[in-house]
Amino acid sequence: MANQNGTFRERQTNIMSDRITAIVLAAGRGRRMESNIQKQYMLLAGQPLICHTLRAFEKSPVDDIILVCGSGEEEYCRREIMDAYGFTKVRAVIPGGAERYDSVYAGLKAAAGCDYVLIHDGARPCVTDEIIRAAIDGARQYEACEIAVPVKDTIKVAGADEFAVETPPRSSLWAMQTPQAFAYPLVYEAYRRFLEPDAAQDGGALFSDGAASSGNAAGAVTAPAALGSAAGSGALAGTASAAPTIRSSDITDDAMVVERFMGRRARLIRGSYENIKVTTPEDLAVAEVFLSRTPGI
Ligand code: C5P
Repeated sequence: MANQNGTFRERQTNIMSDRITAIVLAAGRGRRMESNIQKQYMLLAGQPLICHTLRAFEKSPVDDIILVCGSGEEEYCRREIMDAYGFTKVRAVIPGGAERYDSVYAGLKAAAGCDYVLIHDGARPCVTDEIIRAAIDGARQYEACEIAVPVKDTIKVAGADEFAVETPPRSSLWAMQTPQAFAYPLVYEAYRRFLEPDAAQDGGALFSDGAASSGNAAGAVTAPAALGSAAGSGALAGTASAAPTIRSSDITDDAMVVERFMGRRARLIRGSYENIKVTTPEDLAVAEVFLSRTPGI
C-alpha cells in the first residue's frame, strides 16, 4: 500500500509507482434484459456493450484490467472482444461466480499484487475518464470510496405488503454507482472475511452465525461494528457504526463488504447521472444517447 507519510517527493514517487488494477464484472446473466443475448455482448452504438466499458478503462490511467466473464465464455471474450477490438490492458479473462460478490472475489484474487483496485460493473458502459480518475484519487486519499449521485426521486421503504412504511429524508440519500475503489489489502481482506471466514486471520469466530459464504447465499451475516485496527489505519477513513444483521443476498456493493467486515466507511464521490447501469431494455436506448456524445465511438 502506498505510504501516505513522508516528504512530498517521496509521496510523488509512491504515486508514480502505485499499481492500479480495474476489475470489470461481466459474469451476470442479465435476466432483466429479457434477451437471449447476454447484455454485455449486445450491440450498443455498433459495438458489444462491454467494449465501451473496457475502452474507458483502456484509455484511463489504470495499469491493467481483469475481465470477469461467465464461466465458459473466456475464449469467446479473448477472441471476439480482446483480439477483435485490440484491447491491450486486459491482463486476464477469468470466470466469475454465481453472485456478484463471488465474481468480485475471483477478480480480487486475480488482481493480487496491485496497490489500488477499481471494481466496476461491466454493464455501466458510459463511465468516463473523469469518473475513473476521481475514483483513483479517492482510493489514494480515503482507501475506500464509491462513485455515487444524490437521488432525485423520493425513496420509500416498502413492507412485504407493498405499503410504504418509511420515507427517509431525500437529502441524505445517494444512489451508488461504480467504480468503487479501494486500497487492495483492505478490500481483499474484507472479502476474505466475508467469503472464507475460516481462512481469515481471526477465523470464523468473528461472525456469530459462522458468516456467509457463496455456499450459504441465503445466510445471515453479522459482522462486528468496528474491526478498524485489522484494516490498516488511514487517518481520513471513517469507522462504521452499528452493523445490523443482513442476508448475504443483500450484499450488492463492495463498500458494504468493507463496512461490514472491516468497520471502514467509504467516501462517496459524486459521479454522473449518465453513468447508468444497463439493466432493462429501455436502458440500452438511453445509454446509446449518452455514448453518442463521446468522441471516437
Ligand atoms: O446484477 P447486478 O445488476 O448487480 O450486476 C452488476 C454487474 O455485476 C454486472 O456488470 C454483471 O455482469 C456483474 N455480475 C457478475 N457476476 C454475477 C452477477 C453480476 O459479474 N454473478
